[in-house]
Amino acid sequence: MAGQARVKCRKHGDAHTTYVCAHLAENPVQRWYSDVPTERKRWPDAWCSRCQVEFLKEGEWNEKNEQGLVAKILCHECYEAAQARSLERPLDGPAARVARALTERSHEALRAKQRQLEAKYGLGRHKRWDWDQATGQLVFSNDGVPAIACDIAFVGSVSTLSDTWLWSWANFSLTESVRSPMLRVREFGEAQDLPRLTVPKWPAGEADGWEMTAIAVEILGASGAYRTPSKNGFTFLALLSVSRVQ
Ligand SMILES: [Zn+2]
Ligand SMILES: [Zn+2]
Repeated sequence: MAGQARVKCRKHGDAHTTYVCAHLAENPVQRWYSDVPTERKRWPDAWCSRCQVEFLKEGEWNEKNEQGLVAKILCHECYEAAQARSLERPLDGPAARVARALTERSHEALRAKQRQLEAKYGLGRHKRWDWDQATGQLVFSNDGVPAIACDIAFVGSVSTLSDTWLWSWANFSLTESVRSPMLRVREFGEAQDLPRLTVPKWPAGEADGWEMTAIAVEILGASGAYRTPSKNGFTFLALLSVSRVQ
């Protein structure tokens, strides 16, 4: 299935071609399975739980199990919208319990970490901050003198234009080194069946951004978090380590 093919969508016009199983095309409000999106394949082929049974028999799609797979073409915007709808699926008991416990624990832990960081480093008291994707650092400084340096990973961003959350691991405008740590969070979501951790982009506001950031900080064992304003929303960073610049 070629990644570069184009399709004319009645709703979205000229767009990228994507493939999903017929079951997902028919009803997107269910669990989606796919490879992790990559820069070359941003909308990987996706299938449902029923098709996943066939996939697991071979561990891949090949001539033995592909006959049973009926693929439908969606434009990439229809794919994103359909995938976001998979969040409407009610989680089963264990996944719902994990999600609730994780949210509460992460929220509490992040609050404590933020208080600690503020007390120790006073991040809010410095005149400016700059992040640098090449060094993977967020630096707080005063009148050109760096004061605090943090190793960072990008968690994701909230767009106030589209009112959506976008995980950094699916944001290919970021360099690989600052987004790849977040794949661990996606893997956790995959293992625990938590769609908000595995769907790249979904309808969200600022509070959702903080919630996802708290969960990421918890899973990565990071020191805290920082939110920076962007042109159309906010970018959330996990602070992997924080130190005073000597
Ligand atoms: Zn299917
Ligand atoms: Zn479309």
